[in-house]
Amino acid sequence: MKKPLALILFVFAVTRPIPAQTEPLGSGGRVQEPENHAIVVARLMRYHDSGEYEWGIREVANAARDYLGARVKSASPQDRLAAVFDIDETSLSNWQAMADCGFCAYSVETKLYSLAHDPAITPVLELYNDARSKGVAVFFLTGCPNAQREVTTENLREAGYKDWVELIMRPDGDQSPARLFKPQERQKIEDKGYHIILNIGDQASDLAGCCAERTFKLPNPFYLVQ
Ligand SMILES: [Mg+2]
Repeated sequence: MKKPLALILFVFAVTRPIPAQTEPLGSGGRVQEPENHAIVVARLMRYHDSGEYEWGIREVANAARDYLGARVKSASPQDRLAAVFDIDETSLSNWQAMADCGFCAYSVETKLYSLAHDPAITPVLELYNDARSKGVAVFFLTGCPNAQREVTTENLREAGYKDWVELIMRPDGDQSPARLFKPQERQKIEDKGYHIILNIGDQASDLAGCCAERTFKLPNPFYLVQ
């Protein structure tokens, strides 16, 4: 039976490939507009509120605990084992301030909010306590300036961290990038006779370079520190 012409045209219309979009609609130009900030913020909120962010942290922290346990078992009694913990978005969470200001710049965030009472990131606190219970020396290493030492120390204690060996902070006025400052400080820890078996942080710059047997990268799509 012959197909009616209208049906043939309809089938052609719905089955032919859609041509690729070559220009953004309504822009009149060829430059692609970046994704709208509000859409990105909404996506980050969903990532956090769905539990995916916490699940990702838990997965990394558990892997670090497994490694720590195995490494301590294979260590000699004279080994001075150490672990290095970053602070922001590793040991402590700035989530509330980040979310409230729509993931604004850190310099803006510190003007708008008190960051003195940040809660612990629970899986990392558990990793910390595990390290301490196994006799591993813990060093906090942060890119925050030394001027914040008192408030940072209080915040760590309030959140449940105890008995660390040293809180290493950036000298006031130092502008060097974290990816250079942090390896230098880890080298100083090793020079004191410690052996760093584990380094955990939320930024690639926390983990780059010297010195750790294993590094553990926590998720953080909210900001970037280089
Ligand atoms: Mg951090």
